[in-house]
Amino acid sequence: MSKKIQAIRGMNDLLPKNSALWLSLEKTIFDLFITYGYQNIRTPIVEKTDTFCRAIGGDTDIVEKEMYSWKEASGESLSLRPEGTAGCVRMMIEHNLPRESIQKVFYQGAMFRHERPQKGRYRQFHQVGLEIFGVFNAKADAELIIIIHTLWQIIGLKNIVLEINTLGSNEVRNAYRKVLVAYFNQHKNQLNEDGLKQLKTNPFRILDSKNKAMYSLISDAPKLIDYLDKKSTKHFEQFKSYLDALNITYVINTSLVRGLDYYNRTVFEWTTTDLGTQSTICAGGRYDGLIEKMGGMPTPAVGLAIGLERLVLLLEAQNLILTKSILSICLIAFGKKEQIKSIQIANTLHDELPNIIIYNDLTLGSFKSQFEKADKIKANFALILGEQELNNNQISIKPLRNQGKQQTMNLEEAIKYFKENQ
Ligand code: ATP
Ligand code: MG
Repeated sequence: MSKKIQAIRGMNDLLPKNSALWLSLEKTIFDLFITYGYQNIRTPIVEKTDTFCRAIGGDTDIVEKEMYSWKEASGESLSLRPEGTAGCVRMMIEHNLPRESIQKVFYQGAMFRHERPQKGRYRQFHQVGLEIFGVFNAKADAELIIIIHTLWQIIGLKNIVLEINTLGSNEVRNAYRKVLVAYFNQHKNQLNEDGLKQLKTNPFRILDSKNKAMYSLISDAPKLIDYLDKKSTKHFEQFKSYLDALNITYVINTSLVRGLDYYNRTVFEWTTTDLGTQSTICAGGRYDGLIEKMGGMPTPAVGLAIGLERLVLLLEAQNLILTKSILSICLIAFGKKEQIKSIQIANTLHDELPNIIIYNDLTLGSFKSQFEKADKIKANFALILGEQELNNNQISIKPLRNQGKQQTMNLEEAIKYFKENQ
């Protein structure tokens, strides 16, 4: 036998036994987004590498070491998308959408980052994201928070904390950068290798470090919030007042900077202590300068992304089962004519009972083996079509999950029976 084929490390299959949870989670999320007036968009998985570099920033983890990139024969460099916002912004600019009206959109799909795979951190993972283009005021930032807060309530999520911060305007960030560089320069001996590098390239990223030895250095660092300009302070105050109006609790985390370059003003994350180091479930913020930087008209924007694998891990850790059990019927038939009839019956049942699962036996095995299969898939009922039933234009119903007795009846009566029992 030749060597067994295997998937790539950090890129997972979704097995049949796990997919029901994913489907119902995605449906819950999409239905909620739609009720808030967001429309679905889909962008290609592959974009020009330059699109990501310009959007995400050259000095970020993603662009420096996590992108899957290659050169085309033409010499052009392409990449698998590591996140969704860059492609979304590219699409907005290319199709001139923000000029028409405010754009409220959501996307879903696979993202790719060359990271060290571990629980909650994969090389192919899935995000669902929300973006608003064309609104500067903080009501937009708050709407995103409200939607996700509502989502956690719908799915019953616990032990999840909303952390917020503001990064101010670009001018504020530039002034603060100088202060930060001076502070870390004074404490250079406490920085690790990455930190020393980031001090030169992007000192904000030191604040985002997961290195525990640097925690106290980071928490004693000067806070951007103390250097805010009036306009940014007001924006942040307004943002908070919307959250307060709905009693949404949050923690102000002044070290929260996010790992991507494009953010300004509002940034936020929902974190949990239930998943070890992979603690961020959903993250986002405002990126008012990005559209212009990418070649579009100046357009304020704000967005977020949920990491679906981490959300699913959290649902499992908290024993939250989103899937409703659906009544299922196994149609068991024996004999040539009976097989034809069973196809017709299954068709009628699908029409009449659209919310019930109907398994029609495909093995054409013995009655006994068909029953065993029905048992194995945990069907609620067996619907039996033998020679006698066929001759009398009837079928027999046998409950498989309780002690109820077998009954024989015509198809209309059976449909009525299932409608009453679903
Ligand atoms: P982290 O700090 O954990 O590396 P990040 O800041 O790189 O996260 P974002 O780029 O903000 O993450 O992506 C938004 C969300 O996508 C994260 O909060 C997380 O839930 C999820 N996510 C990011 N990278 C991965 C990954 N490699 N595997 C699984 N989920 C991921
Ligand atoms: Mg990361």
